Amino acid sequence: MSIQNNRLTKEQYEQNFSDIHPPFESRNAALVEANRCLFCYDAPCTKACPTSINVPKFIKQITTDNIKGSAHTIFSSNIMGAGCSKVCPVEKLCEGSCVFNLMDEPPIPIAKLQRYSTEMAMDKKWQLFERKSSTGKRVAVVGAGPAGLSCAHTLSREGIDVTIYEKEKLGGGLMTYGIAGYKVTPQFCKDEVAYITGIGGIEIKYGKELGKDITLTTLQQEYDAVYLAFGVGLARQLDIPGENLEGMVDAINFIYELRSKGYDKVAVGEKVAVIGMGMTAIDAATQAKRLGASEVTMLYRRTKEEMPCTDVELELALLDGCKVLWLAAPKEALGVNGKLTALRAEVMKLGEPDASGRRSPVPTGEEFVIEVDMVIKAAGQTPYDSLVKESGIDNSWGKVKINHQCATNMKAVFAGGDCVNGGKEVVDAVQAGKDGAAGILDFLNINNK
Ligand SMILES: Cc1cc2nc3c(=O)[nH]c(=O)nc-3n(C[C@H](O)[C@H](O)[C@H](O)COP(=O)(O)OP(=O)(O)OC[C@H]3O[C@@H](n4cnc5c(N)ncnc54)[C@H](O)[C@@H]3O)c2cc1C
Ligand code: SF4
Repeated sequence: MSIQNNRLTKEQYEQNFSDIHPPFESRNAALVEANRCLFCYDAPCTKACPTSINVPKFIKQITTDNIKGSAHTIFSSNIMGAGCSKVCPVEKLCEGSCVFNLMDEPPIPIAKLQRYSTEMAMDKKWQLFERKSSTGKRVAVVGAGPAGLSCAHTLSREGIDVTIYEKEKLGGGLMTYGIAGYKVTPQFCKDEVAYITGIGGIEIKYGKELGKDITLTTLQQEYDAVYLAFGVGLARQLDIPGENLEGMVDAINFIYELRSKGYDKVAVGEKVAVIGMGMTAIDAATQAKRLGASEVTMLYRRTKEEMPCTDVELELALLDGCKVLWLAAPKEALGVNGKLTALRAEVMKLGEPDASGRRSPVPTGEEFVIEVDMVIKAAGQTPYDSLVKESGIDNSWGKVKINHQCATNMKAVFAGGDCVNGGKEVVDAVQAGKDGAAGILDFLNINNK
C-alpha cells in the first residue's frame, strides 16, 4: 500500500470530476420544467431560500423567454445565484419545500432553472446592475469568499468604493478552494468573481493577509468601515496518538491541494479512512474515491439519525462506493517507520441527548483495527482563533460576535459569513454579506432602501 498521485488516466479524471448536475440539454427541456411550476402565491421555496430569491417570479420569466429579467430577479437577491445553483443543498432548502413533494411528485428543479438563467447572463456578460454615483466613502473587506463578495457588490451598487484584501491568489473563498470539483470548476469560480466585480468600484488585493500583511487598526484608520469575512479555516484535530504519522491529512488541506494543484498532482492512499459525516467529510471521501483509492471507509461516532450531511450527500458517497461505519470513533493511528498502516477504532453506543438535542456517543470498550494508508480528518472546522483574539475582536470560542446590525465590538468593524456562524452554506454567507452591507450603509448614513 502507498500514497501516490496519478492513479488514473487523464480521461478517467475528467470523467470522475465532470459536472454532477448537468444543465438542461435544450431550451425546450427548461421550458417544460418551468411550466410545471404552480407559481404558489405564498411560495415556500422562497421562504426556504436563505437569500429569499423570488423563485416563482424568476421561473415565470423563463416561461416567457425573459431570461435577462429572470437573471435579474435571481441576482437582485443573490449575486452568487449562478454558483449557488450548483452547490446549494437544495434538498433541505428550496426544492425540499416545493409543494410537489407533498403530492409525491418530483419537485420543480429550481437550482437547474436558476442555473439556466444565470449561466446565460454570465456567458453573455449581461451587467444587470449599475453603480450609483460615488458617495466618496471607502470600505475594506477582508476575504474574497461568498460573504465578502456579496457585501462588496451590495456596497458598490450604492456608490461605495470597496477594497477586498484576500490572502490567496484567487477569489471565491471555499467555492474556489473547498467545494468539490464535480460541483464547480476552477474556471467557473474565476468567471463568477469576474462577473461580480464587473460592476466596477471593487478592487481585490490578492496575497494580502490580515494579521500578517495588514492589521485591523490600519484598516480602521484608512477606511470608513471594515467588513470581516475571512471564514473558518482550520480542521479540528482528532487528538489521538499517531496523529503526526505520514498519511494523516486534514480534509481542508486535502481538498485545497486538489482544487489548487489539479487532480493528477494530489496523492491519495489505496485504503483511505475518512473521519466525520458532514459535507466536508462526504466531499473528501467521494473525491478520494474519484482520485482512484480502492477502498474508502467513513467513520462516524453517531448514527445516520444524527449525521450532519443530508441523505442526498450520503447517497452520493455510497453510490461512489464509499463504505460507512456508524458508531465508530478513532482511537489511535498505527504506523511503521513513521508511515500510517492502520487505524484502531472503538465501537460506540448512543447515550443521553446533549445540549444540542443530539444523543451523545458513549464508548463501549470494544475495539477493532482497519488497515489504511491514509486517514482524512473531517470532523469539523475551527475558527481562526488567534487572529480573532489578537485583533481584540469580541468572540465566542473564536467565532466573531456581532450585533443585530452585524457590527462587532470594534469601531466601524462589521463581520459575517462562516467567521461568525462557524460554517454553514454558501447561500447563508451571501445573505450575511447583504446583511453586513445593510449595517454598514446604515452606519455611514447611506439610504439603500
Ligand atoms: C470542503 C467543503 C465543502 C463545502 N461544500 C459546500 C457545498 O457543496 N455547498 C455549500 O453551499 N457550501 C459548502 N461548503 C460551505 C461553504 O463553502 C462556506 O459556507 C462558504 O464558502 C462561506 O463563505 P465565507 O465567505 O464566509 O468564507 P470563505 O468561503 O471561507 O471565504 C473566506 C475568504 O477569506 C480569506 N481569508 C481567510 N483568512 C484571511 C486573512 N487573514 N486575510 C485575508 N483573507 C483571508 C480566504 O482565503 C477566503 O478566500 C463547503 C465547505 C467546505 C469546507
Ligand atoms: S439560492 Fe439556493 S436555496 Fe436559494 S433558490 Fe437558489 S438554489 Fe434554492
